[in-house]
Amino acid sequence: MNELDVPVGRRVGAKAAAALEKQFGIRTVGQLLRHYPRRYLERGELTDLSSLALDEHVTVLAQVTEVTVHSMRNRTGARVQVRIGDGRGTLDLVFFAAKQWSAQKYERELAVGTVGLFSGKVGLYSGHRQLAHPVYDVLPDADEDAAAALAEKPIPIYPAGAGIQSWQVRNAIAPIVAVLPPLPEPLPPEVRERRELIGIDEAVRSVHDPATLSEAMTARARLTFEEAFVLQAALLRRRAALAELATTPRLPRADGLLSTFDARLPFSLTAGQQRVGEQVAADLAGSAPMHRLLQGEVGSGKTLVALRAMLTVVDSGGQAALLAPTEVLAVQHHRSITTMLGDLAEAGMLGGADVSTRVALLTGSQSTQVRRRMLLEAASGEAGIVVGTHALLQQHVQFADLGLVVVDEQHRFGVEQRDALRAKGSTPPHLLVMTATPIPRTVAMTVFGDLETSTLDELPPGRSPVTTHVVPGDHPTWMARTWQRVREEVSGGHQAFVVCPRIGGGETDDDLAPVGGEDEPAPRRPPLAVLDVIESLRAEPALAGLRVELLHGRLPVEEREATMAAFAAGQVDVLVATTVIEVGVDVPNATAMVVLDADRFGISQLHQLRGRIGRGSAPGLALLVTEAPADSPARERLDAVAATTDGFALSRVDLEQRREGDVLGAAQSGFRSSLRLLRVLRDEDVIVMAREDAQQVVDADPDLSEHPALAAAIDDLVGGDREDYLERG
Ligand code: ADP
Ligand code: MG
Repeated sequence: MNELDVPVGRRVGAKAAAALEKQFGIRTVGQLLRHYPRRYLERGELTDLSSLALDEHVTVLAQVTEVTVHSMRNRTGARVQVRIGDGRGTLDLVFFAAKQWSAQKYERELAVGTVGLFSGKVGLYSGHRQLAHPVYDVLPDADEDAAAALAEKPIPIYPAGAGIQSWQVRNAIAPIVAVLPPLPEPLPPEVRERRELIGIDEAVRSVHDPATLSEAMTARARLTFEEAFVLQAALLRRRAALAELATTPRLPRADGLLSTFDARLPFSLTAGQQRVGEQVAADLAGSAPMHRLLQGEVGSGKTLVALRAMLTVVDSGGQAALLAPTEVLAVQHHRSITTMLGDLAEAGMLGGADVSTRVALLTGSQSTQVRRRMLLEAASGEAGIVVGTHALLQQHVQFADLGLVVVDEQHRFGVEQRDALRAKGSTPPHLLVMTATPIPRTVAMTVFGDLETSTLDELPPGRSPVTTHVVPGDHPTWMARTWQRVREEVSGGHQAFVVCPRIGGGETDDDLAPVGGEDEPAPRRPPLAVLDVIESLRAEPALAGLRVELLHGRLPVEEREATMAAFAAGQVDVLVATTVIEVGVDVPNATAMVVLDADRFGISQLHQLRGRIGRGSAPGLALLVTEAPADSPARERLDAVAATTDGFALSRVDLEQRREGDVLGAAQSGFRSSLRLLRVLRDEDVIVMAREDAQQVVDADPDLSEHPALAAAIDDLVGGDREDYLERG
């Protein structure tokens, strides 16, 4: 058996193996070797104890300077007080020993002069910082000869947890690394040479047991590159395999739906829509299926680009499916597409145009009767366009000739779901993926690296600027002013949204908006709820006489649709809603948005929400209400949103604040668990280089028969089952 596949339990003790699996899901030697140190401590440099922050969990390297044992009155136990120092500051350790002998154990192990690693949470006791009952690992005394080498040798600090300490991880890995057989090298020699990277064996050894800090850094650089390279090779190979597939070319008909639609458009396409439209048309006309990512600013008109692609396919006799992440959005898409098409969507009906089709809607909550009709329209080909949610993915949903799949707001769909829908075509359908908000280039390269990318970077003319302010929610005069502003907008003939993070009414926490960072302080109170807020707004003097309605995901679908339609028709002045309005809602007359407990929302969510206003000729006003303190990360996030409406800039800030796992999204790429060192923002240059190199390798050797170690690394990365799409396609 390959050493990398050997169960950890055969190389380390049963207890350590169990802890490694429980804490980190590590089962094999290969996985353990990829559990890299988080950082390194240098022996020469003791931890700066004066800089430790209260309440933080720390691991410090320091020397014992003082030990005192205090016996406890009326008890058999003792309190052992240890002071450690780094030459500048000191830190106290306190241990409570129930028995005399255990007090002696501390005295013995932590004699004055001992150097060790101490790990615990920094607390405060009578004005002095201390660790209560820290776990510790005493470093062996360096004998004369080894002293010089050891003095320089950095100590790896591993990601650790409640069940397993950093040094226990180190103790598990060290003996394995010491006797490791040669490992398969996934990087081709020419790539290693070009990028001046050390070999895999040296890298794995040095990352876990470096002689110097610079050796550790060299190893990390190599391993980081390897992650980027294997990932890019996987994506490019997927792309190459997809390009090999043959499909039906889709061309618009002269005097068909597309040209009729274009001729009737009340505005002209933006330059970006024109350019991207041509790219898409060229893809659709090709005999290999399109795989394109369409990204762009909120409100840049992605839907129109997608609709024109759908019409092209319908012109060619095929069908298009539009997959939306939520029911509200599917309904909204269905409505806006039907409206945009007018009589072009009324095939078979009195008054339908000569060239025309039908637009079907499929969602989970439709009545059986409606559903059956929609299924029939899809299966017979009567409906050229089928809009739906996940319900579209179900087995019994059939198409006569599915030629194009458009996935909206890709962030909520996984690769498998894309593939499931794709499998419904008799030849592989073309695929267009739209993101909700713009994403940085290397993120696109990493997450959507198997897709070609198009970007809409301008908004259609006639958009109005949206001004955004952060409002302190615990400030009564500011809040009064906020509702007054809403009143003014309504008096000016406009409408407003009030967005809350929660529905309320004793529901579970399921519908809580995700919170930004993990470093947020504990919430002071439950987030504001639509059901409560609507009551207080109906009693709010500034809003007296206004038509205030509510919208949230727990209302029956018909009710939601009716409310949205009433709002769109101007029959509702203020709509109090959850994030159900986040995407797709298009009511140009809405000019104001108040987001309550705005700190509960992420940056891209706020940007997306704000995209609901400023869609008409009047300027928009977004008020982000928060009680988060002025210098908190949450407040910084809101200030960033208020400072710019540039989605690319905001997506960077967003990614910087979020954890990497969220950036990639497990469901989305399936790669999350495999990326250890690579950071999509910090390592942009690495990703770009790795992609170039991987492109060359995959071009020259598409099935990687000359690169078995790379092929194996890819299989590891994407997981065996994930490659199925290649066969299925
Ligand atoms: P996105 O999905 O990119 O956020 P939408 O497709 O919802 O943006 O477009 C927002 C609005 O802009 C829609 O009302 C749409 O009809 C309108 N729109 C799209 N393209 C143009 C254009 N070229 N000129 C004027 N308005 C446009
Ligand atoms: Mg949209």
